[in-house]
Amino acid sequence: MELIECKDLSFSYEGRIVLQNVNFKVNQGDYVCIIGENGSGKSTLVKGILKLKNPVSGEIIYNNISSSEIGYLPQQTDMQKDFPASVFEVVLSGRLNSLKNRFFYNKEDKKIAIENMKLLGISDLKKRNYQELSGGQQQRVLLARALCSAKKVILMDEPVSGLDPQAVSELYMLISKLNKEHNMTVVMVSHDIDAALKYSTHILHLEHQQIFFGTTEDYKDKN
Ligand code: ADP
Repeated sequence: MELIECKDLSFSYEGRIVLQNVNFKVNQGDYVCIIGENGSGKSTLVKGILKLKNPVSGEIIYNNISSSEIGYLPQQTDMQKDFPASVFEVVLSGRLNSLKNRFFYNKEDKKIAIENMKLLGISDLKKRNYQELSGGQQQRVLLARALCSAKKVILMDEPVSGLDPQAVSELYMLISKLNKEHNMTVVMVSHDIDAALKYSTHILHLEHQQIFFGTTEDYKDKN
């Protein structure tokens, strides 16, 4: 089932084109890694998919999903690491988009938050203060938060940066499990080429324009 289609996309800042000729499709169950040098346009494309930045040309077509139903795991900033809230509060805040005309979280929101904490193995951290956790635990919490708004797609911008090797491999295993066992579609910006080639089904390679999109097998054959 097709979820997101990008057609002839280009983006610019202050009149300067930074990314162009982007054409690819994401189907349910795909694990797409977006790779490329620093400054090649990866984060700009992520902002485009989330509708935080408009393309100067081309279009993004959402099928069977709206952009607000895409769970987003942003790059961690130092400020986020010091977020003064409990783990449960952080995970539950992933339901904010779904509140619409309500002012309070309801039972269903809390149930979804609890289910996602269980799925990511962080139930025992529920009452802990987010800022006291290790980097790997914090990323699990943010992933559980993203899953609270994700219907079918989870979009991640370098989710493992700054983590120690053990936490990195645990997070990759978890993401792979969400993809394979829970049919969660994954779109991930990654600097880690080895992991991208190991776990992804598709590669999107950007260098201010699209230089490759296709299956990971085809990418390996060509590189
Ligand atoms: P990547 O995520 O691959 O590192 P980005 O999408 O962040 O690349 O950036 C692509 C290009 O756009 C770079 O040349 C960067 O300097 C430029 N750029 C990114 N954000 C802005 C901005 N807010 N204003 C002006 N230029 C920007």
